[in-house]
Amino acid sequence: RAKGAGRGTACFFDAAMDETARIRRELGHDLRRAILRNELSVAYQPLIAARTGQVAGYEALLRWIHPERGVIGPATFIPIAEESGTIVDLGAWVLEQACAEAARWAEPLTIAVNVSPVQFQLPNFCEQVADVLSRTKLDGTRLELEITEAVLMRDREAVLVLLHRLRALGVRIVMDDFGTGYSSLSNLQSFPFDKIKIDGSFTAAIEHDEAARSIVRAIIGLGHSLNLPVVTEGVETEAQRLIVTEQNCSQLQGFLLGKPGAEPSSAVLPAEIVQLDSARLNRA
Ligand code: C2E
Ligand code: MG
Ligand code: MG
Ligand code: MG
Repeated sequence: RAKGAGRGTACFFDAAMDETARIRRELGHDLRRAILRNELSVAYQPLIAARTGQVAGYEALLRWIHPERGVIGPATFIPIAEESGTIVDLGAWVLEQACAEAARWAEPLTIAVNVSPVQFQLPNFCEQVADVLSRTKLDGTRLELEITEAVLMRDREAVLVLLHRLRALGVRIVMDDFGTGYSSLSNLQSFPFDKIKIDGSFTAAIEHDEAARSIVRAIIGLGHSLNLPVVTEGVETEAQRLIVTEQNCSQLQGFLLGKPGAEPSSAVLPAEIVQLDSARLNRA
């Protein structure tokens, strides 16, 4: 505890930390009732095939509208839900909503659902997924589960078994936010991933930062040599889209192509842009 001159400052920070902790506790409490009170919803963001400009599928993104505080982003409330264990219910809810939604689509597009490390530790997670698939009558091959490398930090042997069991249902496993966090290339060798998503923080930098461009090029190349399609997240500008498309990235996701929305939008690239691309790429 600080004394003397620094004391006022220390008290100020203590107070601010108390306030943050209090809000977190309060949100954690509110979150437990959010499902029952209909405060949660799912937004769908399209994933676009880079070559054709067509929608290949959607990612389900959880949304919470708090009755007093308004919109709270998942980056804020997911960690709180993970800490309190509420993520187990939230995760089950999103999975069910997303699969039911996808089962209603006219086209057999894929639906990607983010899965928390906490859910991955549930002994019955695979059964939960199998149940949802059969209840919603969604073919397992249409479901993608997005996990981050944090999942792989726990009991690696158990995770490996679980991934194989999920894939036996036809479900695809996607490595999300690749290149951040605990990235280790050996994870790509040791675990049966079906797709890699390059984190949006790299995409944001590729136009102006040679190093970011090199990293993205390397990840896409790595994906090719491992036979794994690569998605670029966070594509916001035409210049970014061109750079990753020329590097043969498989799918694109980002505000340029379509924002997360309550209704899956049928965003596609204008045909003339796709033609321009293929002319350019064929020349290359
Ligand atoms: P994520 O899975 O990497 O999802 C991508 C995030 O980037 C989403 O943020 C999306 O709205 C945002 N995004 C998409 N395109 C662009 C773009 O062009 N520019 C920028 N700046 N951002 C873009 P969101 O919806 O706020 O979600 C944040 C994170 O929260 C997700 O990152 C995911 O890790 C987590 N999350 C969201 N929904 C769920 C869920 O249902 N379960 C779990 N466990 N986590 C979730
Ligand atoms: Mg994701
Ligand atoms: Mg991501
Ligand atoms: Mg991310």
